[in-house]
Amino acid sequence: MAYQEPAPIPDKENPFESMMKRFDKAAEILQLEQGVYDFLKTPALQVIVSIPIQMDDGKIKVFEGYRVIHSYALGPAKGGIRYAPDVTLDEVKALAAWMTWKCAVMDIPFGGAKGAVKCDPRKLTKVELEKITRRYTANLLDIIGPDKDIPAPDLNTDEQIMAWIMDTYSMHVRRTERAVVTGKPLILGGSPGRREATGRGVMIVTLAAMEKLKLKPKKSTAVVQGFGNVGSVSAKLLAERGLKIIAISDITGGYYNKKGIDIEKAIQYVQKNPERTLEGFDGGEKITNKELLELECDVLIPAAREDQITKNNAPNIKAKLIVEGANGPTTASADPILEEKGILVVPDIVANAGGVTASYFEWVQDRMGYYWTAEMVNERLERIMISAFENVYDTAKKYGVSLRLGAYILAVDKVAKTLKIRGIYG
Ligand code: NAD
Repeated sequence: MAYQEPAPIPDKENPFESMMKRFDKAAEILQLEQGVYDFLKTPALQVIVSIPIQMDDGKIKVFEGYRVIHSYALGPAKGGIRYAPDVTLDEVKALAAWMTWKCAVMDIPFGGAKGAVKCDPRKLTKVELEKITRRYTANLLDIIGPDKDIPAPDLNTDEQIMAWIMDTYSMHVRRTERAVVTGKPLILGGSPGRREATGRGVMIVTLAAMEKLKLKPKKSTAVVQGFGNVGSVSAKLLAERGLKIIAISDITGGYYNKKGIDIEKAIQYVQKNPERTLEGFDGGEKITNKELLELECDVLIPAAREDQITKNNAPNIKAKLIVEGANGPTTASADPILEEKGILVVPDIVANAGGVTASYFEWVQDRMGYYWTAEMVNERLERIMISAFENVYDTAKKYGVSLRLGAYILAVDKVAKTLKIRGIYG
């Protein structure tokens, strides 16, 4: 798997603090009572496990792993596992809460969780990675499970790692249990359509939001930042719906063509390039990522990473609509500037939730032992994405707030109501 080297972010604000600020605001608007507020702020379970493995050179090395379950209120917990050298328990706690809000806003019957192993995958062999994964899974046997907590891939973890998790769990419970983890290879019970699901979801909510703004796809232009899984699929599907994609970008910079970029050509270029980047792509004039974000366009899709739209560049953004393909691409301090400018922002917890929705479908299919066609997956994904978007839109209208705050109000209210009706045991 490709290791992602985090590039420095000039205007870094802590994305988790940004999320917490938005949660606090939603809690204030909903006038949550103190006890419920405290309940929602505190993870249900936090586990630190030690992962001793024998390295290829025969020496023993001990790694540290985490799993945090923020909430079980809506159902079994769901959330990815990341492998990174600098990951902290605090980060995992914040990401777990984020998952709770995402599942709640999408109306998916899952609580939120996140896991991590503090390791540098670049410095590990495949054998060492497998050992870490299996020992981490074995240490979490009492916590994970199809009815309890279902992991998925995240930063630096992939289908192979999910397959090892599924196999380790299955060996211990003495039966093949596919539904313990999602994001598996298709042959092991992965869902058709999952790989494209996040980008497809971005396309679906983009079209729904454009309708609210009375923007016609065939007469509109879009700019997409990031050309990985989310960015390239979003760009491809939006182009298929008639939008003119005038600029794309990746870590190597931006590529601008006012007549429209040939997205298929760009995808093929990246696939053939040994570096898997757009470097040298001749389908557009080279610009910087900074210039790209400030281009004149109808729709802007940040689908690269966090903290891209900040208080510094927000005043220069000219798009009418921003759809957040990435997690946390807009800082909390940029929110009011975009709002003031009348730019509609579809927030990450809805816009990029196609991935978790497809994970939910994978879990459902594994539990049924009956697999859907890609058409069925796409049709159901569309239904859930549109319904979540419309609910967020209506909530925002009702409270006279942004779509972002509307999404948090919807999610926090749902979890708080569920807690109240379930009651407090103890
Ligand atoms: P990816 O690694 O496949 O692609 C990331 C892309 O962004 C690459 O093209 C990379 O070159 C580019 N990039 C990195 N740094 C950049 C920078 N500073 N400026 C411009 N481009 C830059 O990742 P992905 O899976 O497409 O995820 C992108 C974002 O979407 C992340 O924030 C991720 O958390 C979020 N997300 C992904 C999924 C999913 O299913 N893959 C689901 C939900 C959210």
